[in-house]
Amino acid sequence: MEINKHYFDTVIIGSGLAGCRAAIECINTGSVAVLSKLYPTRSHSTAAQGGIGAALGNEEPDSPEWHTYDTVKGSDFLGDQDAIEIMCYDAIPTIIELEHMGVPFSRTPEGKIAQRRFGGHTRDFGAAPVRRACYSADRTGHAVLFALYEQCQLRGVRFFQEFQVLDIVVENNSVQGIIAVNIKDGSLHVFESKAVIIASGGYGKIFKVTSNAYASTGECLSMLFRQGLPLEDMEFFQFHPTGLYGLGILITEGARGEGGILINGKGERFMERYAPTIKDLAPRDMVSRAILTEIREGRGINGKDYVYLDLRHVDKKILEERLPEITTFSKIYMGIDPSEAPIPVVPTAHYAMGGIPTDIDGRVLKDVDGSVIYGLFAAGECACVSVHGANRLGCNSLLDTVVFGRRAGKTATQMLKDMQKGRVKKDRIDKTFEEIENLRNAKGKESIASIRKDLQTTMMDKCSVFRIEKELKELLVELEDLKTRFKEISLTDRSKTFNTELLEAIELSHMITLSEVVAQSALVRTESRGAHCREDYPNRDDENWLKHTFAFKSDRGITFKYKPVKITRFKPEERKY
Ligand SMILES: Cc1cc2nc3c(=O)[nH]c(=O)nc-3n(C[C@H](O)[C@H](O)[C@H](O)COP(=O)(O)OP(=O)(O)OC[C@H]3O[C@@H](n4cnc5c(N)ncnc54)[C@H](O)[C@@H]3O)c2cc1C
Repeated sequence: MEINKHYFDTVIIGSGLAGCRAAIECINTGSVAVLSKLYPTRSHSTAAQGGIGAALGNEEPDSPEWHTYDTVKGSDFLGDQDAIEIMCYDAIPTIIELEHMGVPFSRTPEGKIAQRRFGGHTRDFGAAPVRRACYSADRTGHAVLFALYEQCQLRGVRFFQEFQVLDIVVENNSVQGIIAVNIKDGSLHVFESKAVIIASGGYGKIFKVTSNAYASTGECLSMLFRQGLPLEDMEFFQFHPTGLYGLGILITEGARGEGGILINGKGERFMERYAPTIKDLAPRDMVSRAILTEIREGRGINGKDYVYLDLRHVDKKILEERLPEITTFSKIYMGIDPSEAPIPVVPTAHYAMGGIPTDIDGRVLKDVDGSVIYGLFAAGECACVSVHGANRLGCNSLLDTVVFGRRAGKTATQMLKDMQKGRVKKDRIDKTFEEIENLRNAKGKESIASIRKDLQTTMMDKCSVFRIEKELKELLVELEDLKTRFKEISLTDRSKTFNTELLEAIELSHMITLSEVVAQSALVRTESRGAHCREDYPNRDDENWLKHTFAFKSDRGITFKYKPVKITRFKPEERKY
């Protein structure tokens, strides 16, 4: 076996917004490698449509304080308020910095950065919706990612594209480096480094219907979990209210921000009943539940399992200029012109609030007491700081990636001079090699596609918007069965060149692990909060559950510890909109 060895001061996994923003920081003090299993600008960040939140107040009065309050309330009071405050106050310089780096934001007639409404963003502590989302038509993620990628190129960041990370090596409480495969030729590469920043994005692909890209499979989270490190708040997975019916492709909340409304089979604007003040612009957890409640109670369109997003009354010019992408999506995928007919929509798995626990500087936590793994950082959707708590507000993820990508990069940079060069031992490399060779030569009777389909279906059926003990327990039994079936897989492609089947097998194995963590965490939390809705425990229970879940792998399966929520200014209150 030939091993290719590399050394970089900092290695970053992922070239989405979080990874690229971190890289821009790290290149100031040392060499930086960014690995991505995709071509860098194909990261899921590029699919972000609606916008990035910041209280610039360009279109109407706004303040970072209101942004902080909205984010805390949106999180159903589970977000850590010290981190939320940092994000909301940092948002303003962050947008200005992005503009200076070349992001082509949409403009107001007088030339300022334009802003629009988004779910859960209000003025005066919940009084009425406010225009806080900065956007670049409905291709915001694309605009920001291309600008950051260009900045990385300018500064000499090295990209290893189509390199899939197989192992993140943590030993003696320090990160040592990573092991990756070059997808092009199957060769194994070891990257030793002082710091590793994980910016590997979300894992919506564990669900059948999702807005997430094919690559959003979450293996890096699982790699840490399997080594005994915790994952935080994994029971909280956001379903976005408006996925295209039958496909899950996202129709941005910006469509409702620009005036779109949801209607049921009786032609009613039903959100008026669920959130009388801000109606269709209520947070996503509430709108998703409302849609599914309408459908359950027989008020879907023609009694079917979807509702309509109606944009017919929105000025055609606005659709053309501010929502061109979703207009095209509707035409291509549904054959519907949104200016002429309403779009059939249903909730779609969208965003992981939980992830790798970090402190406010991106350092990965190894326990609930705040102790860290030396040299290991995480930022973006894979991380849990936690700014989103039990439910993320729209436009706060792009913001999170850039604010905490920069902070993680900055902290890594400051620590670099005191950090030791990592060393990846031979036995660890041998183990990885053996694992992938075993998979490549697997000759069982199960196909990857059938196991994955069953996994995604059962997660969707039993662990999505509504959850209940009986089904979660059934789900855990089924996951055991899927693990057994996985041992019997067979690959049809045994080559080394672009063996995507092999890579999918690796991803699937990690997806099963993550699904178990999600399901167990959901079973244990006996309350309803944010995106976690337990039908058998319908109320929020602050007395027992105002705390973060830390899931650990142990000999007895998964064990849990808890960490108190950081509350600074805003005491938990009833969440009315
Ligand atoms: C359709 C859609 C629309 C959205 N719209 C908005 C919006 O308008 N506003 C908003 O705030 N948020 C939005 N979000 C959420 C937001 O886009 C994401 O949460 C955010 O972009 C994640 O960025 P990231 O940098 O953490 O990860 P990503 O952009 O997902 O990048 C992950 C990177 O990790 C790499 N990677 C992963 N695993 C491996 C591995 N094993 N080896 C090597 N590389 C690996 C990938 O190749 C990729 O480069 C949207 C999300 C979706 C899906």
